[in-house]
Amino acid sequence: MISPVLPSYSRANLSFVKGEGAWLIEADGRRFLDFASGIAVMALGHGHPKVVETLKAQADQLWHTSNLYTVPQQQILAEKLVEHTFADTVFFCNSGTESAELAIKMARKYRDATGSPERTTILCIEGAFHGRSVAAISAAGQEKLVKGFGPLAPGFRQIPFGDHDALRDAAAAPDVGAIMVEPIQGESGIKPIPDQCLKGLRDLCDEHGHLLILDEIQCGMGRTGKLFAHEWAGISPDIMLVAKGIGGGFPLGALLATENAAQGMTAGTHGSTYGGNPLGCAVGATVMDEITADGFLEEANRKSGLLRQKLEGLVAAHPEIFEEVRGSGLMLGLKCKAPNLDVVNAGYDADLLTVPAGDNVVRILPALTISVDEIAEGVARLDAAASALSKRIAAE
Ligand SMILES: *Cc1c(COP(=O)(O)O)cnc(C)c1O
Repeated sequence: MISPVLPSYSRANLSFVKGEGAWLIEADGRRFLDFASGIAVMALGHGHPKVVETLKAQADQLWHTSNLYTVPQQQILAEKLVEHTFADTVFFCNSGTESAELAIKMARKYRDATGSPERTTILCIEGAFHGRSVAAISAAGQEKLVKGFGPLAPGFRQIPFGDHDALRDAAAAPDVGAIMVEPIQGESGIKPIPDQCLKGLRDLCDEHGHLLILDEIQCGMGRTGKLFAHEWAGISPDIMLVAKGIGGGFPLGALLATENAAQGMTAGTHGSTYGGNPLGCAVGATVMDEITADGFLEEANRKSGLLRQKLEGLVAAHPEIFEEVRGSGLMLGLKCKAPNLDVVNAGYDADLLTVPAGDNVVRILPALTISVDEIAEGVARLDAAASALSKRIAAE
């Protein structure tokens, strides 16, 4: 008989009742160090006092009114996002997928509004992940996402990762209007687009008048040590997708855009019942305040340097299990030689949470607020997990 919860996930046999900073606790008191952060969601860790206080205060005041009226919390959060980024305007939704969906609509509408309605095709990169809606899986085009879900949405073309010539050729086609990429592919195994290539991508878009859409749902909100990952390359997109970290665990997504890119999105063209509700936006504003506070990102950078150094040591100590460390800031991947799921499971046995990704990678995504001691403890647990796994492999 099918489970009352649709069995679309293969879940670990773990369940938590409480979170405290970088820790998750089971009902029997067993404490796990959280190097997963709900897949890069809990940017400020579990139970951050200011986030909890904001949510409680807003819950006492007002939960929902609808976008028929002005929602002051949206305005406050939008102003913060505009102040700290390239963007002129923001639309709020409840998830990353919804922001990807709007990016696709906005890119098409832009063509409609600027007299080039034939330029509907969006170029994407193989291995991309933009969410699970029909349009988002069509954009990604990966077999494991799309199999059995056809007919897919038309209007997307995937270019092999790192194939500059293919991208250059594809960008010159008359039906193309936008390019959508993750600055660091997350689900596919922490694959960064080098800064030079992001610059090249911006130039290519400028050359052809394409909109550059960056999906920073996983790599944004301080994860790489800048507020948004593209800042390292010194470029800016026309449209950017944000979710995960921005809500600090409350469902919140956002689409950020320039005034030019957003010009087709006039009243009545898009909407969301829950999007931009007072609870989510109040929490988002507190998360933004914390991440943009003086010294916060410098501190996250300092700790990410330490984590990276320790992980390099771990890889050197277990060459039979690990191959390399990649990624940036606190968005790191351990490319494995042993099956990555075995490494993740050995981590569970050592009371440590990590996240598997494509390309046989284990993702390390701790809270940006994790302490130096917790970093050392987490790597020690990974070391214990790797030793246990080595012994098991040797005994087989
Ligand atoms: C998680 C993720 C999404 C989808 O976000 P949801 O909130 O799960 O809809 C899209 N793009 C990237 C890069 C992601 O990491």
